[in-house]
Amino acid sequence: MTQAFRSTRVLTPDGLAPAALLVENGRIAAILGWGDAPLGCALRDFGDAVLLPGLVDSHVHINEPGRTEWEGVQTATQAAAAGGVTTLVDMPLNCMPETIDAQALADKRAAANGKTWVDWAAWGGVVRGNAEALLPLARAGVPGFKCFLIHSGIDGFAWVDEADLRIALGKLRGSGLPLLVHAELAGPVNAATEKLNEADADWRKYSTYLASRPDAAEVNAITLLIRLAEEFQTPIHIVHLASAQALPLLAEARKCGLPITVETCVQYLWFAAEEIPDGATEYKCAPPIRDAANREALWSALARGAIDMVTTDHSPCPPAMKRREEGRWDLAWGGIASLGLALPVLWTAMVRRGLSIEKLGAWMAAAPARLAGLSGRKGTLAAGADADFAIFDPDTEWTVTTEHLHFRHKLSPYLGATLRGRVLETWLRGERIYDRDQFVGQPRGRELVRP
Ligand SMILES: [Zn+2]
Repeated sequence: MTQAFRSTRVLTPDGLAPAALLVENGRIAAILGWGDAPLGCALRDFGDAVLLPGLVDSHVHINEPGRTEWEGVQTATQAAAAGGVTTLVDMPLNCMPETIDAQALADKRAAANGKTWVDWAAWGGVVRGNAEALLPLARAGVPGFKCFLIHSGIDGFAWVDEADLRIALGKLRGSGLPLLVHAELAGPVNAATEKLNEADADWRKYSTYLASRPDAAEVNAITLLIRLAEEFQTPIHIVHLASAQALPLLAEARKCGLPITVETCVQYLWFAAEEIPDGATEYKCAPPIRDAANREALWSALARGAIDMVTTDHSPCPPAMKRREEGRWDLAWGGIASLGLALPVLWTAMVRRGLSIEKLGAWMAAAPARLAGLSGRKGTLAAGADADFAIFDPDTEWTVTTEHLHFRHKLSPYLGATLRGRVLETWLRGERIYDRDQFVGQPRGRELVRP
């Protein structure tokens, strides 16, 4: 069946303009002029609503199998669909078994079967001692790997040091697959934490948590990774960059042509340390949210292309693990729940800074698709791509309440925020999956296995 979808504001790689998408068998067959849809095809006209490429979130923690009480495939993919996100790439650590060998990937596939509302893929994990499992995981279809340089919060997902990194990068060299790295080194964090404890610091204060994860932990980790990228010439991706102090180093490395990509997350672009109440552990994430001046430096890096993409790092837990009554930042689980909110949050912040909507497509769709090896298929409105798109009303203002949250536990630092822009509909491969607060049909997401 041939379908056509049109709006006066369609975001293609050429920018925002009136256009019509011609869709056949779930794929975009052509981008046509607004009035050029052929007679006889089913035409939907979205008026002046913005027609965006389906967003790609390359950094989410779905937690299933094994920790489904934290989050799950059904709830995470519904939250994604409600936020205009049509592709998720799952992190390898919060599930059990952790995705560190091909059998664990098979377990994840079995757990996801029939429950995914959007398309998905799974990153493999690099941990101490699993070097022999990396190429089998690559052959099984993962788009790349993730590792930590500091304790991950999950004992079963061991962090790696330089010696382990060298072994892993040696295995991955030539595969083209990126190594995604949580770039904080343990040394500066441990030293800062010891000093704070000696001084009897108050762990209910956000300033104590912030001081315990200094910029140096990120800067030193990134220095090491740049050195390894140069030596191994294999792609390294910095996940959730929080410290603007690392930007000059990264800019220099990228100018020299090193294969390094950089992401930051919505929370680092929206919140600022000065505004976080003491004891409000729903804001805890690592690296931590830094001050407002740092936030503005991240924005300017994003605007000039020194940061490639924006993800959520959606990483929820059962509310009890946030230990909200004690409010101690050292004891609470670290991870912010935000899946489904990223588009209006980022757009609201962009409007305040006078940034145009075109950037959204690059930061939240095209760049993360490229990272996950999905260029041309996901994250773009162009001939040959899957017909994934979101219908976005960029002007409506609304306030986030629990009924807008579709992930499992309705605890998020965004509750109460006034945002601009609502996702009206989400379409996956030519079929509507979400329509104004309702999910449509059955879960029909597919795994995107790397060929
Ligand atoms: Zn994460």
